[in-house]
Amino acid sequence: MPESLIVIAIDGPAGSGKSTVARAVADRLGLSYLDTGAMYRAVAFEAIRRGIEPDDRPTVAELARQVELEVGEKVLVNGADATVEIRSPEVTRAVSSVAANPDVRKELVLRQREWAEGHGGGVVEGRDIGTVVFPDAPLKVFLTASEDERASRRSKEMLDRDYDRVAADMARRDRIDSTRSASPLSAAPDAVELDTTGLDAAQVVERVMALVVERVAR
Ligand code: C5P
Repeated sequence: MPESLIVIAIDGPAGSGKSTVARAVADRLGLSYLDTGAMYRAVAFEAIRRGIEPDDRPTVAELARQVELEVGEKVLVNGADATVEIRSPEVTRAVSSVAANPDVRKELVLRQREWAEGHGGGVVEGRDIGTVVFPDAPLKVFLTASEDERASRRSKEMLDRDYDRVAADMARRDRIDSTRSASPLSAAPDAVELDTTGLDAAQVVERVMALVVERVAR
């Protein structure tokens, strides 16, 4: 990563508060924000739309290489707005197997690095940002929270608001994300782990901003 590119990596499991916190930190710092989960979701969405089995690795990998993605305020997949659809229960169920595909990861990691070059760095959230995508990031934060708190946060923000179903889906997704062989979810050795259980988003943002002052803005 070129010296001039400041990337703040925010990783953690589903419902750990990554998106809210990463977006707010980016706003405070005047940096761009990238939700890499939305990219994996967009590929899963397009696979489902085309009737491709999420487990069909070569076909999904080819799709990932070909698909046009724009991930910002809105998520455009081949030019069509899929902002809402990528959060559907169907996509949520399929996304972890799409994300376990090493060739899909290779392609999306490439695009994430290009994105950072094009935006002069930014706040990037995901599962492997500090470990794989930007291992030289000057600040890596790994957010966690109790399973119960994560499930209740997620059931408030997803289209599927049924707590038990969301909790079961999340546990399943965490298991696949943490045990896959390609870039499993894990904290980088030099990441700062922050347990957000019992904290609201504003409190977490303050802690991350303090870390920025300590580690980046020296
Ligand atoms: O962040 P979100 O929950 O929307 O991510 C959806 C899925 O995308 C995760 O469960 C994971 O399988 C995958 N993902 C990933 N690597 C990333 C971001 C997301 O594998 N950097």
